[in-house]
Amino acid sequence: MNLAGLKQWDDDDSPKEECGVIGLYTPGQEAALTTFFGLFALQHRGQESAGIAVSDGNRVRMHRDMGLVSQIFTPAILETLPGHMSVGHTRYSTTGSSLLRNAQPIYCQSMVGEIAVAHNGNLINTRELRDEMEAAGEHFDTSSDSELIARILVGALAEGPEKAVAEVMRRCKGAYSVTVLTPKMLFGFRDPDGIRPLSAGTRGTGFMVASETCAFGPVGGTPTRELEPGEMVIIDAEGMRFARGAEKAKANMCLFEFIYFARPDSNMYGELLYDVRERMGRNLAIEHPVDADIIVPVPDSGIPAAFGFSKQSGIPFQEGMMKSRYIHRTFIQPDQALRELGVRMKLTPLIEHIRGKKIVLVDDSIVRGTTTKQLVKMMFESGAVEVHVRITAPPIKFPCFYGIDMASKGELAAARMNLEQLTADLEATSLGYLSIEGAVDAVGENKPGYCLACFNGNYPIPVPEDMTKLAFEDPPEVGEMAAVSKVQPALIE
Ligand code: SF4
Repeated sequence: MNLAGLKQWDDDDSPKEECGVIGLYTPGQEAALTTFFGLFALQHRGQESAGIAVSDGNRVRMHRDMGLVSQIFTPAILETLPGHMSVGHTRYSTTGSSLLRNAQPIYCQSMVGEIAVAHNGNLINTRELRDEMEAAGEHFDTSSDSELIARILVGALAEGPEKAVAEVMRRCKGAYSVTVLTPKMLFGFRDPDGIRPLSAGTRGTGFMVASETCAFGPVGGTPTRELEPGEMVIIDAEGMRFARGAEKAKANMCLFEFIYFARPDSNMYGELLYDVRERMGRNLAIEHPVDADIIVPVPDSGIPAAFGFSKQSGIPFQEGMMKSRYIHRTFIQPDQALRELGVRMKLTPLIEHIRGKKIVLVDDSIVRGTTTKQLVKMMFESGAVEVHVRITAPPIKFPCFYGIDMASKGELAAARMNLEQLTADLEATSLGYLSIEGAVDAVGENKPGYCLACFNGNYPIPVPEDMTKLAFEDPPEVGEMAAVSKVQPALIE
């Protein structure tokens, strides 16, 4: 199925993770099918394209396309991918027609044979690196920053994976968790700030690497540990070993992975994210108590925090809306009449639970505020007498440059309005956000550090002025949109 050129319909206002990566070493078995199921577990990290590259010890073969993992990979396609080693990728991107060209893994020829590279994150010195490499005679097939990583690896791989990764870490600035396949070896690495997650583990007599630990269980793997910032894992016929690609910097892991992006059944910093989110809900109840009848989660991501809020406050937990499981990504555009139903296409109120109640509506984040506003309206239309909105992410006031598609500063509700104005805009009875301290406390004591840039504006890796300038501008008028969309892909990919 070739879906290139089609744009998925997605009215969801939540921030979008840009990718999930995986790598498998399965001696004596075919890796493609297992990779397919591993990618299935990472589908939430990217739903616009996906790809698998495999090696049989001699050749690297690859298939990638637009769409969900289940739309792209049929049994017939998986059969064209023989080999016991693999890397895989799920991608979210913000560009239109060039999507297939930028789908991953990225494939390159090198002195040591073919390589395939899967990348989660975002480089912030893309333009500078590309100018430098083009001046040195390098040609690029894509506009993706991931190709820069691939080409740097290719240039240095003859000296071994340690040298090649060290070279990437010397030249690339930004967020990157990467898995790489060569004909005879699989390796993975994490940037020196450790912004995006990556875990390694075993699977039978083999090994695996994945963005999140939730990908291990479904394919019979066992995660053994998270890679440290600046660390790499190398897997070949000799087994699995770890090495450093750069000196350990202060860890700056994305706090949003804990709040929303990663699946609740994943572990990060040694903590189960479901429990972290439940503790966030408890802290939220302590920071913003409210007199109400029921605690209502926004499914699915608000459920653990709503449980925590309920336990801490003693107010009963009650589901107040049901989520349609199958609508959230589609290539069929709804017509205007359906589009006006907005959030109701995805969430249906349980009117009998809501009518006549003072409710606390618990959600993970407010980006533009459009979805929250519709949910508040839906609760009141369903008979709620008060709707108190409680949010586990601190106010998002700054854009992300490290691999998350959020919005420009001008579009962020918390950057445009103070608490009072936003409460009025949402038409909520009250609004309370968890503090940064409350969110960090919920992860646990004595953990390595966090990136908090979208909450406090302190970017752990300095962002070039031309990137900030564009992202900090107000959204363009409709007539300006075409011009801006031509500039943005090079900056955000
Ligand atoms: S800016 Fe926000 S979303 Fe981006 S990496 Fe930092 S904490 Fe995560």
